[in-house]
Amino acid sequence: MSTEIKILKQVLSKYSKPMTLTYPSAVAPERRYSQIPEGLRGIPERDKDKCIGCRACYFVCSGRATSIYDKDAKRTVEIFLFRCTFCAHCQEACPEEAIKMTNKFEIAVPNREDPGARVLTELDLLKCKNCGTPYVTKKLVDRTYERLMEKIDPIVKETVSNDYKKLDGYCPDCRRAYGVDLDTHTKKYVWLEGV
Ligand code: SF4
Ligand code: SF4
Repeated sequence: MSTEIKILKQVLSKYSKPMTLTYPSAVAPERRYSQIPEGLRGIPERDKDKCIGCRACYFVCSGRATSIYDKDAKRTVEIFLFRCTFCAHCQEACPEEAIKMTNKFEIAVPNREDPGARVLTELDLLKCKNCGTPYVTKKLVDRTYERLMEKIDPIVKETVSNDYKKLDGYCPDCRRAYGVDLDTHTKKYVWLEGV
């Protein structure tokens, strides 16, 4: 075989099959993540069982990547990864330690609507037992009560606990409207001894 033909065959062989792999689908995750430097701060992940839907991560998000919205009695906590700056503020702010920064760095998805571009958690909202408006997650009500009782001044602990239980199930508007009827108005604390 002449040298020219050999060269020609070699050149043509380059075009007979792709020179690169289809990324990321054709590259195994263990290979993609095999050479990550220690301490790399990558995609944040959320533990849906720990998340209470409190919004703390939304308020601190430096990249405006986090959004929280209520619809059809569900609260959705969402991070849009294309906007995430991997600053870890959400991890620091989360009172339930529900967010952890991982060492995963790939956000290669076909388009912005792909589920891989988002970290989503959906939580059920309680409906107000008076007006029926969905207003808060059950987990948030329960955790707030627990924390309140851990830290509150013993002088007002029983009163606050009773008020909290009376107001449980009412949305903020109905609490305001019926505070006097339910005897939960905060003015009464003025007369509590030592407060
Ligand atoms: S701060 Fe934590 S618990 Fe609160 S909504 Fe964000 S992830 Fe959930
Ligand atoms: S890592 Fe930073 S930018 Fe990304 S979601 Fe958390 S707070 Fe927002």
